[in-house]
Amino acid sequence: MLDTKYRPNKFSSVIGNDGTINVIQARLKNGTINNQSYMFGGPRGCGKTTLARITAMAMVCENLQDAEPCGECEQCKAVLDGSSQHVTEVDAASYGTVENVRGMIDNASYYYTSKASNIYILDEAQRLSAAAQDALLKAIEDRKIHVMLCTTEPHKIKKPIRSRVEEYCIKKPSEVQLVNRIKKICIDEKVPFDDVRTLVTIAKMSDMIPRSSIIAIDTLVNMGGVNKSNVDDLFNVSDYRMLDDALYKLSVFDKLAFDVIEKINQSPEWLKQNIITAISNDIRLKLGLSSQYKYIYSKYESDLSSILDELVPLNKPNVYDIVALLIGWFVKMEKSGYVKTVATNVQVVQNAIPQREPSVVQEKPQKSPPVSNATETKKEQERAAPEPRQVAKKTRSIEVDGIKFNDSESLTTLDGKIKPIENDTKDINEVYSMGDTSTTPMPVMDFISEFKKLQ
Ligand SMILES: [Zn+2]
Repeated sequence: MLDTKYRPNKFSSVIGNDGTINVIQARLKNGTINNQSYMFGGPRGCGKTTLARITAMAMVCENLQDAEPCGECEQCKAVLDGSSQHVTEVDAASYGTVENVRGMIDNASYYYTSKASNIYILDEAQRLSAAAQDALLKAIEDRKIHVMLCTTEPHKIKKPIRSRVEEYCIKKPSEVQLVNRIKKICIDEKVPFDDVRTLVTIAKMSDMIPRSSIIAIDTLVNMGGVNKSNVDDLFNVSDYRMLDDALYKLSVFDKLAFDVIEKINQSPEWLKQNIITAISNDIRLKLGLSSQYKYIYSKYESDLSSILDELVPLNKPNVYDIVALLIGWFVKMEKSGYVKTVATNVQVVQNAIPQREPSVVQEKPQKSPPVSNATETKKEQERAAPEPRQVAKKTRSIEVDGIKFNDSESLTTLDGKIKPIENDTKDINEVYSMGDTSTTPMPVMDFISEFKKLQ
């Protein structure tokens, strides 16, 4: 199995989390690693337990090489095959009772001889009962045991424990890191792949979890090869593509969106979750943030976020509820005139795009008299050729208090035109006071007066 073969057993083969690894290796080098218990917090599949196991192995290794466990000595081998007397890996989900934890601590005192023994890796540590956590606290404080708490929910670990362990925030690898890793595995295993984009899809559809991505490679080999078509089948990628297409259609108010959605062969929960995900992703992209989702969703033409207002609270919907909700949204948008506005905007955008390929030049009627001068002719031709479309610049002029402005003037010109207010030094409250119409001739002053009345 590729996932077992490529499970890291050295710090150097872990992808990402360099900061955490540097701290652990510094502690291994300066001999302070045994002074602490540790907590590895992070999302499912990010490598918390793997990192805890490598750390534990480094703590017991008889032949530590540059802060890396050798992987060859008796102690390392025992950790790797789960027979170590010093390193015990337990699942807190089934082992997290106070009796078990007390037993573990009692057992620890019996073995308490070596400086690096009694290391307990507690998986799913958030499942430890409150009493078990209390029992653990005392043992951690007395350094009777070394605990490595691995948890997806660090907030569920009691504060006194959290304040007594060194806490590491473990992250999933980046897309580039993971794709490079699976690419290398494919090359090392002589597994051909059709395109790097296929590997990107594998990484994303495996939730960026290295182990799941490697298992997927194994499955794809058994399906006949690592290629786009098999990846589409394995992960139902076509359903994501259809949903993306449907939402894009919705964003340009194309009614065919509803036909596409109805063809998606997934559960209503899947549909609800992925519509939410896709729209959230669109918002992320429009805010200039990167896409965080496994399928690369598009940026949509119009704002779909108001769909979320109704979709998120929808409880246990069926597919027809969701489609009805979207149709309702569509009709509401149409009635509000939003659709029209969007259509106009699209037109404006199209007009603003310069025409790169000049088309039929002759069609433009030339009313100007013929010019003999060659340069003039050239200029005339340039004028006749379709130029980037521009809205004709109209100068608007505004008159306020006898001062004329036009919008082509710069701020400096305007400054010169504005006369100082006569009662410049007059108290501002007096000038703006209610009823004093003589000093408030401009509409804005009327507004302020009205506003003040309201207060
Ligand atoms: Zn070793």
